[in-house]
Amino acid sequence: MLNQFLAVANQLGVNFERLGVMLPILALVFVPLERLWPKQRQQVLRPDILTDLAYYFVGGTLTALLLMLAGALLVRAMQGWIPAAWLQWVAAQPWWLLMPASLVVGDLAYYWAHRWSHQMPWLWQFHAIHHSAERMDWLVNTRTHPVDAVYTRCIVLIPSYLLGLAQGGIDSANGMMIAVALFNRAWTSFVHANVRWRLRGLDGLISTPAFHHWHHANDGAAYVNKNYAALLPVWDLLFGSFHLPKAFPQRYGISQAVSPGFLRQLLRPLPRPRGR
Ligand SMILES: [Zn+2]
Ligand SMILES: [Zn+2]
Repeated sequence: MLNQFLAVANQLGVNFERLGVMLPILALVFVPLERLWPKQRQQVLRPDILTDLAYYFVGGTLTALLLMLAGALLVRAMQGWIPAAWLQWVAAQPWWLLMPASLVVGDLAYYWAHRWSHQMPWLWQFHAIHHSAERMDWLVNTRTHPVDAVYTRCIVLIPSYLLGLAQGGIDSANGMMIAVALFNRAWTSFVHANVRWRLRGLDGLISTPAFHHWHHANDGAAYVNKNYAALLPVWDLLFGSFHLPKAFPQRYGISQAVSPGFLRQLLRPLPRPRGR
């Protein structure tokens, strides 16, 4: 029991260190990009930056802890469902085949997990936090309620695990899974960045700032619930949620109020409507 506790504490320490190392690297890349090619002029030290930093460090560590528990339970529930011969065959495939397969399977699962979090009110109350940002920048990527993050990662894990692509579970420590996780962190920061770039030739093939900014648009009812994919817009094209005009959105955010500050958002993301 003590050993398990120490192992979890060690893992959380490693996670915290990794977050600490990544933050200045991400800032060094994205702050100059946002100063040179801003979609809209805004301060680096904006009013809710402390809330987003709390999400980055405290929310990120809480998410890692919950993921360890939920991931282990899920893997235990799914163990024995997959023939051992299939797992061995998948494990013997080269990384250059496994990595794109993991990205495609994970992104399709992400598309539906994300779409459900917009459609189901009990999931939306947590996902609304991510959409509460009224200005986009690279750090908005971190504004994710731990329940939202854990739910999404667990849905992504299920098909990946059943197909033998995540045999080590949710925290597979092999090089391929770490590379995929680092790429995801960098790319998801990029698509939230306050940059006015249009990536001609890539728009529509891969998620870009313009593509994901439209997911955060608050320009009217016709433009909500679009562009759910994290990486591959083909899912939005296939399932009818693709929207990518030439211009960027004018406004971002949601019309619902969310609780102010990290701790209140953690405990009650959407405050009770007045009068109840
Ligand atoms: Zn969303
Ligand atoms: Zn987003």
